Amino acid sequence: MRDLFVYNSLSRKKEKFEPITPGQIGMYVCGPTVYSDVHLGNVRTFMSFDIIYRYLLYLGYKVRYVRNITDVGHLTDDGEDRMSKGAKKDQLEPMEVAHKYTVGFHDMMRIFNTHSPSIEPRATGHIIEQIEMVQAILDNGYGYEANGSVYFDTLSFMKDHPYGQLSGRVVEELFSETRDLKNQNEKKHPSDFAIWMKASEEHIMKWNSPWSLGFPGWHLECSAMSTKYLGKNFDIHGGGNDLKFPHHENEIAQNIGACKCSPANYWLHTNMLLMNGKKMSKSDGNTITPVQLFTGDSPHVSKGYDPMVVKFFMLQAHYSSTIDLTDDGLLAAEKGYKKLMEALKILKGLQTQSQAGAMDAEFERIMEEMHQNMSDDFNTPKVIANLFEIVSKINGLKGGQLDISELSDSCLTKLKETLSTFVFEILALKEELGGDNNSQTLDGLMGLILDIRRKAREEKNWETSDKIRDTLSALKITVKDGKDDSQWSLN
Ligand code: AMP
Ligand code: ZN
Repeated sequence: MRDLFVYNSLSRKKEKFEPITPGQIGMYVCGPTVYSDVHLGNVRTFMSFDIIYRYLLYLGYKVRYVRNITDVGHLTDDGEDRMSKGAKKDQLEPMEVAHKYTVGFHDMMRIFNTHSPSIEPRATGHIIEQIEMVQAILDNGYGYEANGSVYFDTLSFMKDHPYGQLSGRVVEELFSETRDLKNQNEKKHPSDFAIWMKASEEHIMKWNSPWSLGFPGWHLECSAMSTKYLGKNFDIHGGGNDLKFPHHENEIAQNIGACKCSPANYWLHTNMLLMNGKKMSKSDGNTITPVQLFTGDSPHVSKGYDPMVVKFFMLQAHYSSTIDLTDDGLLAAEKGYKKLMEALKILKGLQTQSQAGAMDAEFERIMEEMHQNMSDDFNTPKVIANLFEIVSKINGLKGGQLDISELSDSCLTKLKETLSTFVFEILALKEELGGDNNSQTLDGLMGLILDIRRKAREEKNWETSDKIRDTLSALKITVKDGKDDSQWSLN
């Protein structure tokens, strides 16, 4: 298998990736808090991890990709559960809120042509595991109870283990940065954080525990669910870099505190999506929803953009750099996207009889660089630059400036396969731009159907998978199965 290098936020170095079990990877990514519509920043993070997942599959790894749904415990700065806040706003049960926005999140992920993870566990479905973890932390002497709530005892933990390594914060900073002022009087130290919280009378989501009728601290769910599905020590943990502190830092402390083992070997963090040079923020109007971006119904854009153009725009930046969403940037991405798809169509029609060609070495070099760039911390902007090197050569072949007889048949075949794999399977772009609502709906529906079929195939349920293919075929929709994915087209 090709060597892979990843930037590990924990060591702050680019490292050669070595899986715990050869050929297999366990990857956990912090999923969305489902109390409102998914925003473009979330899309950027989940799309980046989708491409990482796809490339790991392409390299030949068997990947178990776990991405959770946060449906309890993620509090606002003033201590209200985000789910209860959403429930009050929409006048729904918290579980109705969670369901509504989970469905919306899945639809959006499908529109952006991303795979669903292998397991998508919910925090509320794992209360028992979280209570067990709180107990283990208490048993190991790294927690204490106060008025029915349980806190992680950071000072007692720091006597035995380092704390603050991932975020690079020193103890004094950790003390002053804590925002949880409400429960300060119950804590031994300002940097201690709640792992179980006693619920107030009016709190809606609460469960029985040995300590109180209450609910788990937000950081705990990811510790409990990653351990349950990937083991005490697994390969990759991901999320946006806004989660480094306190969420990920506290996850590490909890795992070590409960299981005496650091959870993940490699921590990967995506950077933030900005708009017009500033952080996207609902409160000052510097925000745009994915739907507004598709329809153009926003003062921030001059027109609507296809989801694939938005995706292509985002892939032009490395996942660990910020991206600034601007109308000019999207217009340029749209032009580039169309140019790429046009060139791929020309490439499809190219033919040669040559056995050997003077241009082969140059194409081989670019194709090898595409692999190296993806294997160098998933460098999509460099891969896109490679693709455009090839695009200009394809246009040269079409325009007659380059001579197709100088390209061998085997190299041309390899070029067609490599480009198709990189563009449609790894970067997971789509050939045709939709634009109108009908084609977006069709895209979403086809994504759903192909996902069900993929799962049926994984379970070797050939009856279901063949039935789906045959029914689609009767509707004049052809499904072509690739190694990790299926593509569809209208006949
Ligand atoms: P949340 O729903 O707030 O829990 O966030 C879900 C995921 O999206 C987390 O991994 C966040 O780090 C990530 N995220 C939130 N805002 C942004 C942003 N503006 N840009 C990129 N990723 C983000
Ligand atoms: Zn998490």
